[in-house]
Amino acid sequence: MSGRSYQVRTFGCQMNVHDSERISGMLESAGYVPVAAGETPDLVVFNTCAVRENADNRLYGNLGHLYPTKKANPGMQIAVGGCLAQKDRGTITRKAPWVDVVFGTHNLHRLPVLLERSRHNAAAQVEIAEALEVFPSTLPARRASHASGWVSISVGCDNTCTFCIVPSLRGKERDRRPGDVLAEVEALVAEGAVEITLLGQNVNSYGRSFGDPGAFAKLLRACGRVDGLERVRFTSPHPRDFTDDVIAAMAETPNVCPQLHMPLQSGSDDVLRRMRRSYRRDRYLGIVERVRAALPDAAITTDIIVGFPGETEADFADTLDVVRAARFSGAFTFQYSPRPGTPAATMDDQVPPTVVAERYQRLVALQDEVSLAENRAQVGRVVEVLLAEGEGRKDEATGGRSGRARDGRLVHLGPNARAAGATTALGDALPEQAKAAALAQLAALRPGDVVTTVVTYGAPHHLVAEGAPLTARQTRAGDLWEAARETPGASRPSVSLGMPGVGAPPAPKPADGDAPAGDTGDAEHGCSASGCGGAASPETPGSTELTGPVRSAAGAVAGAGAQ
Ligand code: SF4
Repeated sequence: MSGRSYQVRTFGCQMNVHDSERISGMLESAGYVPVAAGETPDLVVFNTCAVRENADNRLYGNLGHLYPTKKANPGMQIAVGGCLAQKDRGTITRKAPWVDVVFGTHNLHRLPVLLERSRHNAAAQVEIAEALEVFPSTLPARRASHASGWVSISVGCDNTCTFCIVPSLRGKERDRRPGDVLAEVEALVAEGAVEITLLGQNVNSYGRSFGDPGAFAKLLRACGRVDGLERVRFTSPHPRDFTDDVIAAMAETPNVCPQLHMPLQSGSDDVLRRMRRSYRRDRYLGIVERVRAALPDAAITTDIIVGFPGETEADFADTLDVVRAARFSGAFTFQYSPRPGTPAATMDDQVPPTVVAERYQRLVALQDEVSLAENRAQVGRVVEVLLAEGEGRKDEATGGRSGRARDGRLVHLGPNARAAGATTALGDALPEQAKAAALAQLAALRPGDVVTTVVTYGAPHHLVAEGAPLTARQTRAGDLWEAARETPGASRPSVSLGMPGVGAPPAPKPADGDAPAGDTGDAEHGCSASGCGGAASPETPGSTELTGPVRSAAGAVAGAGAQ
């Protein structure tokens, strides 16, 4: 049936964001259209996450909420896919019999057929595959951003971190061939993208399956030869597999961004051992040191879990030491809580929640202090910013623009972008005339355009550039964004590609850009972006809703991942 409208609601990590782009693309290939703002869709697809605490309660809450709408619209269909669907399978239709289709992480491509069959048979269809049937990257996609694209280089994970349920839901690592990856990168650039994030649970193990352990470094260098590709990011590396050839490729390939999101998880060797993460703090800090030597301006971010079973005060002190030594510009921080189905959930010495919460607050306070110092050190620097939609919630009110610097830091531009009362190292407000000139210049810029500007203020989770841009370049991605805006139903939600902000407590709601969007304070395990815990961006209008914690690079984990 053609012309049916759809909406995809995405929970969880960047891998799910990527899958949702494929789900949307497949549905549009099958004749579905994005639902118009304010209308009830004929189809709602939940792309779920099993990592977060109470993920199932949240899903059933959402499904319950939708039940009256479905009852009032008998032709409406509801589909549930993603990690929770892979895990709960038939339970979903038992608990919510008004769900029409349940599909897993390995068979996204079956969704249109299952919807059709469910309509024809007037019965729910539950189909979960145990192994990947079609690499999601070969499916059509409806990209969330004109300027930035995710390119999956692998799916699944061969590691067995004891806090993580991902391997059992996403399966063993499967690598795409480098030629296929590059062809997709080139196609995206031909469509107007200027920024690519290579995505995998463990990008450093890429290539082992086809006998080339140096494949990831070669892939970075090959991306460097793609004409028109200005920014290459990746997520996530694993400290165990991180090799110096990758550092050299990062340093010697001009379009690879000076940014690294490398999950630490714990600074204690004992805790790392119990997590079954086969690197130790010295190895981790050695990689940080070599990255800083090769890329002195790199912004390095991480994921940290507080309160893993058996974590002592001395273990936690080790984590704080690493945070001080590594000088992360941002971190996704997590309070550990047991996840059913993971080995850590049944470990004896669970840390009391009050102790976890107290340590967590100390970690956040320290990381905030480090992030603030690192961002203040940026004041006076010239940065190049790729403007993006949805990065600055106050942009409309302030007349400003927002985007990411090459190192992934979030930058708010405009004379009114600094929070009231904040002081700056560069002196105070601009003269009125300069303000008006800056605002006029910014007003002409679109998401996807690129500016250079001077940083005038550093907050813990963002930078501010109050003056007029030094240079401004309109791009094809900006043109496409503008054209899409003119076409009803064609506007695209934005997806942040940045670094993680620091894990501030979940409430109250942060000020614009002043804390990582999302609820990084909630407990989950720590593979933040590519597959395990990262997420998407907030408030995304259009047909794809991204729900859940935001992992944004300067807070990039642009995607981050397992590791
Ligand atoms: S935490 Fe990351 S590396 Fe570890 S098992 Fe999970 S996905 Fe793999």
